[in-house]
Amino acid sequence: ACVAIGMSSCSDSPDLYKDPDRPVDERVDNLMSQMTLEEKVAQMCQYVGLKHMRNSEKHLSLEELEKNHAQGFYKDLHSSQVAEMVEQGWVGSFLHVTDLEEANYLQSLARKSRLQIPLLIGIDAIHGNGLCYGATIYPTAIGQASTFDTLLVKKAAEETAFETRATGSHWAFTPNVDIARDPRWGRTGETYGEDPFLVSAMGVATVRGLQGNKTDKSEHVLACVKHLVGGGQSVNGRNCAPFDASERMLDEIFFPPFKACVEAGASTLMAAHNELNGIPCHGNKFLLTEVLRDRWHFDGFVVSDWMDIERLYGQHRTAETPEEASVVSVNAGIDMHMHGPGFMKHIIDAVKNGQVSGKRVDDAVRKILKAKFELGLFEDPFYDEGKSKEVLFCDKHRKTALQLSRESMVLLTNKGILPLDERKYKNILVAGPNADSHAILGDWGLPQPEGNMVTILDGLKKVSPSTAFHFLDMGFNIRKMDAAKIVQAGKMARRMDAAIIVVGENSMREHWLDKTCGENMDRSDIDLPGLQQELVEEVYKAGIPVIVVLVNGRQLGVEWIANHVSALVEAWEPGSMGGQAVAEVLYGEVNPSGKLPVTVPRHVGQLQCVYNHKSANTWFPYALGNSDPLFYFGYGLSYTHYRYDNLKLEKSVITPDGSTSVSVDVSNIGDRDGDEIVQLYIRDDYSSATRPVKELKGFRRVHLKKGETRTVTFEITPDLLAYDDAEMNYGVEKGTFTLMLGSSSRDEDLRDIQLTVR
Ligand code: BGC
Repeated sequence: ACVAIGMSSCSDSPDLYKDPDRPVDERVDNLMSQMTLEEKVAQMCQYVGLKHMRNSEKHLSLEELEKNHAQGFYKDLHSSQVAEMVEQGWVGSFLHVTDLEEANYLQSLARKSRLQIPLLIGIDAIHGNGLCYGATIYPTAIGQASTFDTLLVKKAAEETAFETRATGSHWAFTPNVDIARDPRWGRTGETYGEDPFLVSAMGVATVRGLQGNKTDKSEHVLACVKHLVGGGQSVNGRNCAPFDASERMLDEIFFPPFKACVEAGASTLMAAHNELNGIPCHGNKFLLTEVLRDRWHFDGFVVSDWMDIERLYGQHRTAETPEEASVVSVNAGIDMHMHGPGFMKHIIDAVKNGQVSGKRVDDAVRKILKAKFELGLFEDPFYDEGKSKEVLFCDKHRKTALQLSRESMVLLTNKGILPLDERKYKNILVAGPNADSHAILGDWGLPQPEGNMVTILDGLKKVSPSTAFHFLDMGFNIRKMDAAKIVQAGKMARRMDAAIIVVGENSMREHWLDKTCGENMDRSDIDLPGLQQELVEEVYKAGIPVIVVLVNGRQLGVEWIANHVSALVEAWEPGSMGGQAVAEVLYGEVNPSGKLPVTVPRHVGQLQCVYNHKSANTWFPYALGNSDPLFYFGYGLSYTHYRYDNLKLEKSVITPDGSTSVSVDVSNIGDRDGDEIVQLYIRDDYSSATRPVKELKGFRRVHLKKGETRTVTFEITPDLLAYDDAEMNYGVEKGTFTLMLGSSSRDEDLRDIQLTVR
């Protein structure tokens, strides 16, 4: 009889799963043995939060709203029906529950359901829990990657976990470990850049910070590694467009960060909008089962991306009906459906008619329930309001955000004007759409309380109170810049000692119609949008020193600016405290140390422009114009200088399975303390299949006082030398390897030494 009703053992009490002292697997078995098919499939269903749903409904015109409803967009779950569905146990998860009150309310509804299974709530807490009011916003991923500081990135992720918990969510849809190889793609700034090694290190740090250690997850959240795979190199840089890649390309460039995050214990993973080699990722069994489960042994669960199961039917057209789309995706390996109609019924029907096996549903549900148990949600799904206030934007988090922001600043050019001399530059023009704007918060953020954000103008006033900053308010709308204001800026500049012009892009969600960057904001060029170039040129004509600060989420081909202005700072989207960090860098309170995690092309015609290209990519230069990038991967200036000497190998000959180490002395030879990011690149000199001209294989951030020298050592292990050879066998080939150490990927910035493998 026990077998018939699926109970794990005759003596099990139905309440065993509620006992925190029992092992998680036993609790899951006990609970699952009591669940109906409907209750199981419900665990695979996620819906958008109530306030968010009403909000999205509120923003739509009546006509659009009716169209959505006619298409059944919210058919399963119109906001008015949520309470009933949750009480029935027909919802397993929510996303975008943007405040604690709503989260606690939804959990109280779930408590009324037959088995009282708590809800798992996910949110795009990407660089801080920015969709929630009052959260700390850290620099976006591309800025975080520019720090090359995995410890600090981990710390920011851990604090993000605390703040995510403090708004009632338990799952952050990050890290985004897409490899960004086309800056036309609007999501470039959501990534850690173009290099698999750096992206892996950043992704792993983020996973570890978010998830904490396996045994204590009560303060931590689930990470969600996304988007498997290839969104960063889609056709023409367009979101969701097809991605074709050889197995070699996947193994070398696109898979490593996902594999590394899986090995680091990531609990969940999200599939990509796009197709891989003709098969949409959401219906791609090779990707979601063969690679993810069988090769990498991923034991967490896979969530679909927003409406992407539906896109198998509506966009990719590999499923003839929405029902078929649901079935194909679950059979391919999707475990949870992110928002949308019909899925629950489709899967229940499919199990009944044999298109999806009961075992497949059980596998998915088991992993989802396991996560809920491990998070401690069965014990306490609520979060205390008082405690929440203490956690959000607390001093400690604000300090980390500031430090991360400082380290993320990349000084691109400096003709000696920086750090600014307060005695010399008393009157400074401050202009540009991003000078006093929320754009510093980046994508996946909503406007925050005024006191919680330091704009660049605020930061300047704070850091240099003796300087008169003359601010020309041009509005923050890049798309609708007023030409008259540009003339005015030029006139004002003539009366000033210097100008700080803050230009770039805007990816703020709240500014939906004004955005130039972010998801679905792909571009056909990488110039400064709007009239910003005109603004810089007009101010430059005044003949005063001009400092340009870029606030942007993708590389911009600002060649004229780089060549002409007195200094150029890449601030990316530096978060809540970003304005202060920018000002500290301009005034020398902070010595800039950030390095580019991407190559900056001069213009769109140079794409694909990455540092880890093959040797034949650069056989002949372009007939007209420059062929080299504007700025190299790994590049960034400082107010001091570093010298590299004494490059040494511990052993210069090793066997294919042997190891050695390489070391270099790095000296700070300038007149102020600083942090240098020492980079190790490796090239396989001759190989049976072609290899990149160089690949980053190590980096170290070292603090050096002025005059100080430190020896930096990197271990060289077989995994740094191995690759898929001509026969697709992974291993180290005999021959010579060139090891390059230095301050950027540019040849002039590197010293090299040869290692022989025989
Ligand atoms: C994005 C995901 C995100 C999801 C939920 C999608 O459009 O691609 O990265 O997590 O929306 O907001």
